[in-house]
Formats: sequence, structure tokens, C-alpha cells
Amino acid sequence: MSAWQAVIGLELHVQLATRRKLFSGAATAYGAEPNAQVGLVDAALPGTLPVPNAEAVRMAVRFGLAVGGRVARRSEFARKNYFYPDLPKGYQISQYEHPIVAGGEVRARLDDGRDVRVALVRAHLEEDAGKSLHDAFHGATAIDLNRAGTPLIEVVTTPCLHSAAEAAAAMRAIHRLVTWLGICDGNLQEGSFRCDANVSVRPGPDAPLGTRCEIKNLNSFRFVEKAVEYEIERQIRELEAGRPIRQETRLYDETRHQTRALRGKEEAHDYRYFPDPDLPPLVLAEAEIDAIAAALPELPDARRDRYQRELGLSDYDADLVTADRSTSEYFEATLAALGGPEPKRAKTVANWIAGELAAALNAAQRPIAESPVGPEALAGLIREIEAGRISQKVGKDVFAAIWAGEGDAATIIAARGLSVIRDDAALAAQVDAILAANPKPVAQYRAGDTRVLGWFVGQVMRATRGQADPATLDRLLRERLG
Ligand code: ADP
Ligand code: MG
Repeated sequence: MSAWQAVIGLELHVQLATRRKLFSGAATAYGAEPNAQVGLVDAALPGTLPVPNAEAVRMAVRFGLAVGGRVARRSEFARKNYFYPDLPKGYQISQYEHPIVAGGEVRARLDDGRDVRVALVRAHLEEDAGKSLHDAFHGATAIDLNRAGTPLIEVVTTPCLHSAAEAAAAMRAIHRLVTWLGICDGNLQEGSFRCDANVSVRPGPDAPLGTRCEIKNLNSFRFVEKAVEYEIERQIRELEAGRPIRQETRLYDETRHQTRALRGKEEAHDYRYFPDPDLPPLVLAEAEIDAIAAALPELPDARRDRYQRELGLSDYDADLVTADRSTSEYFEATLAALGGPEPKRAKTVANWIAGELAAALNAAQRPIAESPVGPEALAGLIREIEAGRISQKVGKDVFAAIWAGEGDAATIIAARGLSVIRDDAALAAQVDAILAANPKPVAQYRAGDTRVLGWFVGQVMRATRGQADPATLDRLLRERLG
């Protein structure tokens, strides 16, 4: 069994975050009434002509530059012909021989910390089809054309992946990149980011590629992993039983966790691709490409590397604060509010983001960009702790109070009287009360069992709700017990 090598290549349908469709002025917003967002071009009315959306073209270029691919100065739209009720023109406008982006590469990180390089074949512009609704009406299929004409880029990887985990990691890396670039909202449930996985197996890494099956329309990272895993095992089982693999399209059944055959695989010639006579070649000016390149943000991998190099962040922390663009922006803004990037501070901020903030956001099901505790507020809280005005532990309560809208850290500390008690007299009174109430452990300590010191610290901390200054408390306890 172990000699088999799995080979996987992905095709990702990335819905571009434009307000209007690829060839018409209709809106692309998700969730509208069926057929409320259909332009004449999308409905394929005779005599209408497509006009390319410049914003979608710029987004495709942004992607091409970000992956280090070759951006075609001249690309071409082609018709992909097939019949389906949700495709009123009878063809989909896509790109075939001359895509807008060729080549390029993305780095994907596995859970075990290993990096895989995901080489891309191409990324081409195309329009989405409409939707057939099979259970909206009894005994009839309904057509919703809202999605027809929505701009996509289809990103095609080479068959360079060799396990289900690598396939899922590659999908995650591309998802992170397109959302980071702001060219896709990344919403998997709404279908803004969908994956087809091509899977084959071969007897060893030097054997020719085996016959592949394509699993269509996977809309979660977990499903990709599960589907690919199942498919690899199925193909190995078939081949070991002496049954050849048939090239076909398969569907993943989410409840049974298995794939099943849908139809035999179409070949490119079945689609009778040809250049769309309604659309001239897409020609990009050098200056336009330069402007897009100049406006690219720092990319997630570069930023992660920089954090490790300049701020000494661990693998774990660096991954965490570059997991998505808004987390990274939050991290940067908090550091800036604290006076700029600096290793110790960076570690503190990363800890808050991974700890209290992540827990609170998760419990409230909120994105970090809408956190009630913003970067300024978190910086204010960290400043109070670093200045020794409150303990780390009290800091967590203050965080919760900021979250609840009680004001900034300084205000909450003053209003609730949370400052550290450093005053000798005030703390001594608390210490004396505890000692007086516990003669037994006092005697124990004096008999030489100094382990009870920690217990006394705990008692005073509880009595002061964690506000006692640890150094002062330690000194007072030793003085009085000694
Ligand atoms: P098509 O045009 O039929 O869709 P492509 O050659 O464009 O085929 O490849 C589509 C996807 O299938 C790519 O992601 C590619 O990496 C992958 N692929 C091609 N051959 C294999 C194979 N033998 N095993 C696994 N994946 C493959
Ligand atoms: Mg394909």
C-alpha cells in the first residue's frame, strides 16, 4: 500500500469582489430575490453585447502579480459551449488559449510546520453560471440567474500535491491570499470560493501520472481534505483489485463521507472553445500593470517572514498574526499605538490576540475588524499593565470591561478601584488579618515548613481581588512570619 503516490491538482473558483458583473452592469450582491440582479446581457437577450468590467480585470492582474506569475499584456476571451438551463447563452465566456495569468506560485504551510510550494498553471477570467433550484417548486426546476455573469478567476494548480493535507493547505493558502488582496470576500458558505480537486494515484514517484478523477464543487477546507482522502483510498483499492480507474467527474457526499460518480469526464474538444467574436483581445497598458504592482500590499508570507526576522516572533505567533489581513492590521495598529514594532511588545500583543481577544471574538461570533476592543483600547490596557498599575490577572477583567463598553482601561481602573495595592500600610492590614485568622499555618511556617508561604500569597490575593503588588506582598509576608 505504502508504495502508492497520490497526485492532486486543484482548480479554484474565486469570485471577484466587484460590485458589478463581468460583462453587464447588474449587481453581484449575495442574497437578493431570485432574478432581481439580471442584466440584459446575463439573460442573453439577442442583440446585447458584453462589455468587460475593468475592476475585475485589475483584480485578476493583482492576483497574477502577487503570485509572481506572468501577466499577459494581451489575453483573449473564449466561448466554452455547453447546454444547461442555467446558462442562457449556451456558452460561458471564459479564457482558454490565452489566459490573463500564467505560472506563479503560492507557499502553503502544513499543520506540522512544513512548507509546500504550490506551482500554478494559470489563472483565467470567466463568468459564473446561474443556479438551478431543484426543490423550490414541486415537480419543477426553477432558474435563478442572479449569479450568471458574476466575475471569477479560476486558479489552476499543477499536479504538485501529494496528500489530502497538502491539498487542504494549498486551498487555505490561496484563500488567505485572495482575501488578503481584497479581490474575494472568501465566503465559502455563499460559494465565493469553491474548489474542484483532481486526484490520481501511481505506483511510485517516477511512474507516469495515473488516470485522474475530478471531485467537483467542494466548499470547505475540511471537505476537500475528507474527499481527497477518500478518493485516494478508493483508487488504490480499485487498482489493487485489478480494476482500472475511469476518468470521470465525481461528487462528494458530505453525510456519507465518500465520493460517487456523476458523469464521464468531458474533454476540451467537447466544449468547442473558440475566441469570442463579441470581445476584442484584452490588452493591458504597461503603466496600468505598474500602477497595480505599486499598490500591492505587503503579502502574508513576506510579512510573516519579516515578523520572525525583525520581531523574533515564533512560528506559531507569526502564523497567528498573519492568518488573515484584518488580524494582521489589528496587530500592526496595536503595535503602532504602543510606540512601534519591538520584540517584547510584539510578543505581548500576539499573546493578547491569541488569548483574550480570540476567545471573546469566538464567543461573540464576530470578525476581528468589528472587535469592541480595538487596537487603541488594547494598547491602552497593555500600557497600564506594563506600567505596573494593574496586574496581568486584573488586566483580563479590565479587558472584559472594555469589551462591555465601560470605557478605556484607565477609566475602568479608576472607576472600579482596580489599581495595584503597593501601599505598605494598606497591604500590611490585609496580611495581618489573614495571619490572625490562620494560626495553624502560621505555626507550620515558623516550625520550618516554608511551603505554606504560597498559600498565604493566594489568600491575600483573593482578599484583594488580585490587586496586591506581588513583590510588596512577598516582603510583608516574610517580615511578619519570620
Ligand atoms: P482539464 O482541462 O481537463 O480540466 P487540465 O490539464 O487543465 O485538465 O488540469 C486540470 C487540473 O487537473 C489541474 O489542476 C491539474 O493539476 C490536474 N491534473 C492533471 N492531471 C492530473 C493527474 N494525472 N492527477 C491529478 N491531477 C491532475
Ligand atoms: Mg479544468
